[in-house]
Amino acid sequence: MGRLAGDLGVGIHLNSAVEEIVVDGGRASGVRVNGEAHSADAVLANADLPYVYRKLLPSAAGTRDFRFKLRKREKLLYTASSFMMYLGLDRELDHLSHHNVYLSSRYEENFRQIFDERRLPDDPSFYTNVPSRTDRNAAPEGMESLYVLVPTPHLGENVDWEKEGPAFKEKMYDLIEEKAGIPDLRSHVAYEKIKTPQDWLSDYNLEEGAAFGLGHGIFQVGYFRPPMVSKAVPNLYFVGASTRPGTGVPLVTIGAKLVAGRMGRELLGSTSAVGV
Ligand SMILES: Cc1cc2nc3c(=O)[nH]c(=O)nc-3n(C[C@H](O)[C@H](O)[C@H](O)COP(=O)(O)OP(=O)(O)OC[C@H]3O[C@@H](n4cnc5c(N)ncnc54)[C@H](O)[C@@H]3O)c2cc1C
Repeated sequence: MGRLAGDLGVGIHLNSAVEEIVVDGGRASGVRVNGEAHSADAVLANADLPYVYRKLLPSAAGTRDFRFKLRKREKLLYTASSFMMYLGLDRELDHLSHHNVYLSSRYEENFRQIFDERRLPDDPSFYTNVPSRTDRNAAPEGMESLYVLVPTPHLGENVDWEKEGPAFKEKMYDLIEEKAGIPDLRSHVAYEKIKTPQDWLSDYNLEEGAAFGLGHGIFQVGYFRPPMVSKAVPNLYFVGASTRPGTGVPLVTIGAKLVAGRMGRELLGSTSAVGV
């Protein structure tokens, strides 16, 4: 995608966190990165929409749209999140498929603990992916890459990841050993990376550490989902999981196509646009 964008004349600045979307006279006039202003005819924000309103738009704080969103923010419902294990193993996993789903025998309790009690499940369901089963470039010869996704609540007062995270990880190692049939798993781990909802917040600015952005309850889908263009800042556009149509790579990609078309129509004759 980077190469394709480059061929189309798009400039990509890596490791350049946007600090502010600058709004002058009710219109977005660009972004500020490392204290430096970059002017633009329009801004398309791909960072998580609630975070954009809360953190990147201070100069729009006086506008009706911003106050509205800030007030409503307390009421927004977020998706669940995930605890992730990215493992490199020094053995092969011939008995596993590319996709493997392990459902808790206490299925309803598992959902209740995540969505109602908002705490870590006692007997989690989980998903594992072994990309090296179908793509031998995903691990060295004789080894395997193993990705483990465990649905958990998003950040909240009922889970202290600093305290509970290490024990939850050990629980998962035991469960994977048992359910995925990998005896003595820990001794085969050549590489380990763990991500918790705290990392989704700190690394990607996902509000509440919700891995999939805003939830899809009836009052947060379709017309009710935050729109792709700001009501108060008419040349500020949004794309991504927390705007329309919703979360997941296919929907986000459809959203990108829709917003690109809209910007093309509305900005006809403009010379530049900045993507966040
Ligand atoms: C563990 C996990 C597994 C998933 N599995 C699937 C799956 O199997 N299928 C599926 O369809 N979807 C899956 N999803 C969901 C899917 O990945 C997301 O819905 C989708 O990537 C969201 O796209 P986005 O463009 O909104 O956000 P992102 O892809 O997160 O892009 C937003 C970008 O904005 C950047 N950013 C944030 N703040 C700033 C700032 N201030 N300045 C500059 N840049 C900033 C972030 O670093 C990030 O790169 C999964 C998500 C997770 C977390």
